[in-house]
Amino acid sequence: MFDPYRSEAEFALLAVRTAASLCRRIQEEMVSPAMEKSDRSPVTVADFVSQAIVARMLQEAFPDDPLVAEEDSKALRVPAQTQTLSAVTSYVSSLRSEANQGLVCDWIDHGSGEPDARFWVLDPIDGTKGFLRGDQYVVALALIEEGQVVLGAMGCPNLNMNLRSEVGGVGSVVIAVRGQGAWVTGMDGGRPIKIQVSGQPDPKQARLLRSFAAEHTNVSKIDQLIAALGSRHPPVLMDSAAKYAVLAVGDGDLLFRLISLQKPDYVEKIWDQAAGSIIVEEAGGRVSDLAGRNLDFSRGRQLTDNLGVLASNGWLHEVALEALRVVGADRRPEGS
Ligand code: AMP
Ligand code: MG
Repeated sequence: MFDPYRSEAEFALLAVRTAASLCRRIQEEMVSPAMEKSDRSPVTVADFVSQAIVARMLQEAFPDDPLVAEEDSKALRVPAQTQTLSAVTSYVSSLRSEANQGLVCDWIDHGSGEPDARFWVLDPIDGTKGFLRGDQYVVALALIEEGQVVLGAMGCPNLNMNLRSEVGGVGSVVIAVRGQGAWVTGMDGGRPIKIQVSGQPDPKQARLLRSFAAEHTNVSKIDQLIAALGSRHPPVLMDSAAKYAVLAVGDGDLLFRLISLQKPDYVEKIWDQAAGSIIVEEAGGRVSDLAGRNLDFSRGRQLTDNLGVLASNGWLHEVALEALRVVGADRRPEGS
């Protein structure tokens, strides 16, 4: 299974499982007071623990492969964060007895690699706001070759094996390899089960997924899209790339990442979209930006040539693109 990416897939499954179960432990123990990064988004002990663990595992499994990951140790190396760094080190040591503060920072910074012909991309915790609220978050890892995502894996501690929300449940892992489908398995193991998007072609029945955080989307445009499609369902609000897993298993039909009015120049980061997009595509769905362009992962750390994201079950993609044009959500908001 997963040839010719069998060893990569085995590594990715183990890495996201290991990191996600540690994150779950941290979420349960509530040791994670948020601190502020320079961009003011919350970052927690768990983000750093997750990145240190996955980066170290990658260093051992594929020493020549660069890793492009969201965090770096700069914010941790300052005197004000001594306590955070000790908490991070103590969690990492529970799995890696050789860990100390210096090594943990080095492992985190293994994630400061540059995009190359082949590289891995990691969001150690996507949906930090969901994590802090005790809700959805994922550990997202992907492999990019020649600008194309070829493998994606997500550890989803608060989604069950049916990819339904179950906070505090056993959790699940979703994996996709290009040309080989998308699969779900338990966070603690088990035989992978193939997943598939919905076959819903009727826009009136379309179930929309959007960010929980209103400031990450455009709520009034979402409402206009629902009206334009004639959908009878209120949107489902969910943090993180867990939305892609829900779409991939057919529990939603459309996923919109619209441009927020607060940040009209926002550009999507590759670690937020790589794993989720291949999972939806391999489950039979379609992913593009809001203007219908393919996501271009060859542009560095950001999707600079794209605008937001539309992911769908495929059947509803064209009608959703048309709705985006009608409501004017296929371009940057005025004033940018
Ligand atoms: P979600 O949980 O769907 O809100 O997505 C979480 C991801 O959105 C995080 O990785 C954030 O870095 C990213 N993000 C931050 N600001 C914005 C924004 N203005 N628009 C879209 N996504 C954002
Ligand atoms: Mg993220």
